[in-house]
Amino acid sequence: MVALRHDPVTALEAVRRDIDGACRDAGRHPQSVTLLAVSKTYGPGAIEPVIAAGQRVFGENRVQEASAKWPALRERHQGLELHLIGALQSNKAREAIALFDAIHSVDRPSLCAALAKEIQKAGRAPLMFVQVNSGAEPQKAGVLPEHADAFIAACRQSYDLRISGLMCIPPVNEAPAPHFALAAKIARRNGLKLLSMGMSADFALAIRFGATHVRVGTAIFGSRPP
Ligand SMILES: *Cc1c(COP(=O)(O)O)cnc(C)c1O
Repeated sequence: MVALRHDPVTALEAVRRDIDGACRDAGRHPQSVTLLAVSKTYGPGAIEPVIAAGQRVFGENRVQEASAKWPALRERHQGLELHLIGALQSNKAREAIALFDAIHSVDRPSLCAALAKEIQKAGRAPLMFVQVNSGAEPQKAGVLPEHADAFIAACRQSYDLRISGLMCIPPVNEAPAPHFALAAKIARRNGLKLLSMGMSADFALAIRFGATHVRVGTAIFGSRPP
């Protein structure tokens, strides 16, 4: 047998069908879920066919990689939306505000201060999500669940940041459902409408728990080089 070459466009269509199916099962409108195609490590040769197939929203986890790749793609294609899903250093806040339409990794006061300052200067604000470290993993970014309410309040009151949602990345070796449920609960009690959760392996489940933004890389582009 010859291994078939991975085709991102066919894979994208399958992911879209699965999202539609999960929405139907959950009694939700398919347009209530935004698919972020996570293109980290992939170059324009892999990304452009996916744009040509109609995908407009992309996720990247590094500011530097995104700033090397996306300005040229944006010149060639209309209406692209770029989301930062990885950690953001405060000293890259200005670059991030200039480059991204959404930031999913707001998780500490020093970053809030940097973002607030750069938003003020730029006169535009990205969509912002607070990242919650739902599994309290020491190596992982995000605020601890028990600190989330106070942190969200501080974002709003001390930094005047308009937070729209929560983001979580469940621990790799645990069932994701309780983490999705926890994020949904914290979002609800803080009046946050958006939930960024669900990746290639579990986006359908995340949709059942209310995800509005699913971040799907491997299931579209194929496995990344280690
Ligand atoms: C890479 C990445 C994803 C996509 O993961 P896949 O398993 O490839 O779908 C989602 N979210 C974040 C934060 C990531 O870094």
